[in-house]
Amino acid sequence: MNILVLGGGGREHALAWAILQNPKCDRLIVAPGNAGIEQIAECASFDICDGGAVVEFAEAEAIDFVVIGPEAPLAAGVADRLAEAGIPAFGPSAAAARLEASKRFTKEICDAAGAPTAAWARFDDAEPARAYIRQQGAPIVVKADGLAAGKGVIVAMTEDEALSAIDEMFSGAFGAAGAEVVIEEFMEGEEASFFVLCDGETVLPVGTAQDHKRVGEGDTGPNTGGMGAYSPAPVMTPEVTAAALERIVKPTMAEMARRGTPYRGVLYVGLMIKDGAPRLVEYNVRFGDPECQALMMRLGAQALDLMLAAAEGRLAERKVNWAEDYAMTVVLASRGYPGDYAKGSVIGGLDGLPETSWEMMFHAGTTEIDGKITATGGRVLNATARGRTLQEARDRAYAMAEAVDWPEGFYRSDIGWRAL
Ligand code: ATP
Repeated sequence: MNILVLGGGGREHALAWAILQNPKCDRLIVAPGNAGIEQIAECASFDICDGGAVVEFAEAEAIDFVVIGPEAPLAAGVADRLAEAGIPAFGPSAAAARLEASKRFTKEICDAAGAPTAAWARFDDAEPARAYIRQQGAPIVVKADGLAAGKGVIVAMTEDEALSAIDEMFSGAFGAAGAEVVIEEFMEGEEASFFVLCDGETVLPVGTAQDHKRVGEGDTGPNTGGMGAYSPAPVMTPEVTAAALERIVKPTMAEMARRGTPYRGVLYVGLMIKDGAPRLVEYNVRFGDPECQALMMRLGAQALDLMLAAAEGRLAERKVNWAEDYAMTVVLASRGYPGDYAKGSVIGGLDGLPETSWEMMFHAGTTEIDGKITATGGRVLNATARGRTLQEARDRAYAMAEAVDWPEGFYRSDIGWRAL
């Protein structure tokens, strides 16, 4: 079959890599892709958030299946346009993608489904929001309702911090995303990511992971898109996983179906776990990046069969074949990220790296310029490896990161510290 993947990050490189291992795939196109994806698949350029453009391209290239990587095309209704055109796609409708696009919507669904999450209130005016914060006290969490690329959440340790977050949000700094604010109870515990596939009815767990959001070692410094991840997450014991599935995920999926907006695709379930009890932090309507890279390394070729089954309503027939293994991704980023960073430095040392089912250097913000792999983004490379133990996976991933000759880049040296 002819497959189109939408996106151009490390997540999409890993998806493309896994899809290509499956003999069902005859031809793979990725839009827009990056310099690493270009080495394994065709790349195309068009506006991936424009449903009409995606359908037109898919029809012209006789595409049989579209995998939608990032949230923006999902929120823009690209899956809906593909469904109308009769082209099978992996990824939820815009109505179902509200589980990520609106924090208030997610909270309402959780309440209706009885899913445990932080207590919350919503405001579209600053004054009542300030009064609520003074009444609740700190720590407390202030969130812009809409998509703000991970920057719309302020975990305030003091009342003053929370009050200035309110000023910032209602100042228009977040545009439409900040016109409405959700204020949440601060939850303590250990965070983990839980990934499930859903075909509108059946829910199938496809792995757990832990991300490293902060830029600095020991989880310090500003938040990023993610500096590394490993899978599975030890905190996700069979009991915690079962509780998350039965108390949070399944009731949410049932509520979405009851409202006439069944969820089809992968659901990223962000959890806070305390004393063995998981509570929901957030849903994302796509694979996390970099968690996806570690998951794809563990799933390999079956990832395509699972995504097809989710899109076609056949998940009840499927199970995941797990190897007893671990995977880790270490993100190499441009110096300065997540603040300002220079673009255009040349990356060396990539040619000699191993490319096996145990180790892959997935690309994110790279472009080939004059035959040279050049850094053009904040997060640039993902050294990803699998091992029989987490330590083995880690040793392989760091060996790859160290072999890269890129003085303008950096990486955290402590990915996996919690688990090791
Ligand atoms: P992203 O998708 O980049 O993770 P986001 O903007 O969707 O970010 P959330 O995941 O809701 O935001 O929050 C970001 C981080 O803030 C969480 O990973 C968690 O560490 C922290 N956080 C969010 N809500 C709470 C809460 N109620 N209690 C404690 N910490 C929280």
